[in-house]
This record gives sequence, structure tokens and C-alpha cells, in this order.
Amino acid sequence: MKFIRTAIFAALAGLVILGAPSLAEAQDRASRSIKKNDRDGDGRISRDEWQKRPRLFQKIDTDGDGYLSIGELRARFGEGANKAGAPTPSKASKPSPKAAPAKSARLLDGQVSTDALDAETLCGIGRGRRCDIKLAIKLGMFETGLRPLFPAGAQCRDIDEQWAIDYTYKRNRENYHGGIDMPAPFGTPMIAAAAGTVVSKTGDPDSYRGIEIILRHSPEDTGIPLWIYSQYAHFDAMPKHQVGQRVGIGEVLGPTGNSGRRPSRARRRKRARRPAIHFAVWFSASPKFVVRGNKIIPVKGRWMDPNALYRKKPPFDSPAMKALPGPEKKVPISIMFEDGKVHPAGSKIVWPYTCKRK
Ligand SMILES: [Zn+2]
Repeated sequence: MKFIRTAIFAALAGLVILGAPSLAEAQDRASRSIKKNDRDGDGRISRDEWQKRPRLFQKIDTDGDGYLSIGELRARFGEGANKAGAPTPSKASKPSPKAAPAKSARLLDGQVSTDALDAETLCGIGRGRRCDIKLAIKLGMFETGLRPLFPAGAQCRDIDEQWAIDYTYKRNRENYHGGIDMPAPFGTPMIAAAAGTVVSKTGDPDSYRGIEIILRHSPEDTGIPLWIYSQYAHFDAMPKHQVGQRVGIGEVLGPTGNSGRRPSRARRRKRARRPAIHFAVWFSASPKFVVRGNKIIPVKGRWMDPNALYRKKPPFDSPAMKALPGPEKKVPISIMFEDGKVHPAGSKIVWPYTCKRK
């Protein structure tokens, strides 16, 4: 009996190693799991729909919102691969050159475990479904009145949905816009606002932001004595950059699209989302950050009105931005022209779309 159990275990372990899934396979398994368990068809698995171990549910539900999203499931299946020994190549499993490398279990520079987060930051930045939105407001998610002032000689893509406007009507619960949107035709390149390192890249169909990438910028990258994170969302295609890769200022991240789950009101009206970038910024004095499913949460992080980034010097916090005198609320924006020239020369931060010369 003992021998049989050992044999079965060994066979299963072998299967896991041989079947060490690539990201594409992890995505596939996540989709199948949703298909199998999601009885009410909302694209995710609730606690009731999950008929397996409740503790496993808790483990997979990294943002603690009481639902398993496809991103969380994919992360789970990806992790399983690493634990089983992937991506170590062996004679038995020839590594396919086309397969995406499995998410490394190795931590990124600055990445720490979730224990480093206090409950307020976890909820205020992570904004899980069970989190009180007041915590996000406390950490800076409210309107400041800042507006971009583009250089006189440049024609730039302007904001159509401002920072922290009321999104309650879009989400069916109190919520605010966590970034700024600039509409642009499909395919318009989104560019890195500063040099940095890719810390997240996801394409969760359950997310309102769709295909997105997050960069982490050191004080040297921006000339600002803080750690800054910039998020670019609604790509039309998955950016080619890998997590951990360095990018330069103005480097093309990928094409603009309208990926992501549509707000319920738009779904009812069968209206497509316009193509646009969703651009968001967080900051912290601490270099540490946590990866929670699809989210990056800086330790002691704060929300930043993305316009404030272009002030290029502290303070950046929303209470200080809101208190600025009127004329200072027009923030001169540093930009990159289509030919790659930065204006004003030497700027370490640029608008996430290039501008045309007038
Ligand atoms: Zn947005």
C-alpha cells in the first residue's frame, strides 16, 4: 500500500515537472478553471462557487476581495510551475523557444513580502473589493485641480478624464478615477515617462485596465528623491518587455488600445471603450514594494495626481497639491517630440505620449 502511494506520488510529481507550464499554459489553466466554476458567468469565481478547500481559496485570492480573478488563478498556476522546478531545462523537456519564460520566483530589486504592508496601505492602494474607499482617499485619491500646461510649440494629447473624478457610476460602488486618461488612435505608441524597471505586466480580462505595465523609477531615474511607480493601461497588444527589464525615458512600451473590462453602463449600452492611455502614479520614500496578484503596492505608498509628477520636486501629496495657489495648479509639462528630442532639454520625465511640433 505504502509502495503504491509512493509510486502514485512520484508519477504525479513527474507529471508536474514534465508539464511545467509556461505563462500561456498558466493562462489556459486559469481560463479552464473559471469556465468550470463560474456559475453566474461574471468571469470570476466566488467563495460559493469554489467547492474546494477554503484555505486554498484564501491563498489564491491575493487581493482579498472574495473572488478569484483570472489573474489570480494564472499567478497561482504559474507559481506552481516554479515550485516544481521550472524553468530548469532537462533532457526530457526541451525548452520551446517560443514559450514565455515562467514568472521567476526570484524577487525583484526592492520587492518584499506582503507582511511589510500595513493594512491601510494594502487597502488604500490595493483597493480590493472589501476595502473601504476612504482609505484610498486618505492616501491621496481626491481631486487636486492640477491641469497640464503643454509647451507653446507643441501639440500634445490632452486629458479627457481627469484625476480622481467620481467613477461611482461606472463601478456600481463608491470609486474614483485612479489616474488620467488621454485618448489617442489605436496603435499610438505609449512611451515610458522616465527611465525605470518593469515591475509588472498583465493582461487580465477581468480588470478594467486590460493590458497594462508598471514601471518603478529610482531617485536617479527621475531626479526626484523618492521611489515612483508609473502605470500604463489599455494597450492593444501585450508589451514585449519582460518584468525586471530596464527601459529608457521615452522608450515605446506598446500600442494604445481599449483593452479591459468595460464599465457596466457601457456594457448595457453595448458601447465600446474609446482607445486611450490610463496613466497612474504612486510614490513612496521607501524603496520597498509588494506584488499582490496584478497589483503593485509600494510600502508606505501614496497616490499621486499624475500631473504633479511634472512639477519634478516635492511635495507631491494630494493635500499639498490641492492647497497650491491657482496659477501653480497649471503644471508645465516636459515632453518628448516625435523625433525623440526632449523638451525642455535634459528633462528626466516626459508625457506618456510624444507631441507634434506646431
Ligand atoms: Zn483611466
